[in-house]
Amino acid sequence: MPTVTPVHHAYIALGSNLGLSADALEGAVAEIAALPETQVQQISPWYRSAAIGGPSNQPDYLNAVCAIDTALEPRPLLQALHQIEHHFGRERQVRWAPRTLDLDIIWFDNLTSPDPGLTLPHPRAHERAFVVRPLADIAPDLVLQGQPLSHWLKQTSDQAITRW
Ligand code: ATP
Ligand code: CA
Ligand code: CA
Repeated sequence: MPTVTPVHHAYIALGSNLGLSADALEGAVAEIAALPETQVQQISPWYRSAAIGGPSNQPDYLNAVCAIDTALEPRPLLQALHQIEHHFGRERQVRWAPRTLDLDIIWFDNLTSPDPGLTLPHPRAHERAFVVRPLADIAPDLVLQGQPLSHWLKQTSDQAITRW
């Protein structure tokens, strides 16, 4: 019997506000595409956003979202994303401090999980223009927390974000 690999669909948010951010985002997309049994289906336009939370006077962020199909389960996918962050020099110090690369799983197959180690969908994604804007570009029909992205676009319209 031929085995059929299960395919999952997921959205990953990418952000960087330290070092060569454009190189980090491009390199991260390439490394995600090179994960086992994983294809990058779409990449959003890139955005520049003001940092929210954490220390004051941080540099702006470069942000994007990509859509993937993958046979990886959520946990192994998160582990792989942490490794990619590490390749790009991510250091985990103060929460929300400037970072060379941040990769968050925003949505995975409509799964919901309250697990703090991997919360799905990402519990703060819908409050953040730097996630909602690029996500709406590639997945306009996606629903987060029971509301369409158009709702979250309006809710976050006061946050500073521009196309890069
Ligand atoms: P935020 O989660 O508010 O975006 P952050 O990205 O700066 O903050 P990190 O220090 O990168 O936070 O991650 C802290 C922990 O969050 C990670 O070790 C990871 O286990 C956990 N986590 C929970 N849910 C998710 C998710 N959906 N995607 C990525 N990490 C998650
Ligand atoms: Ca994050
Ligand atoms: Ca993160």
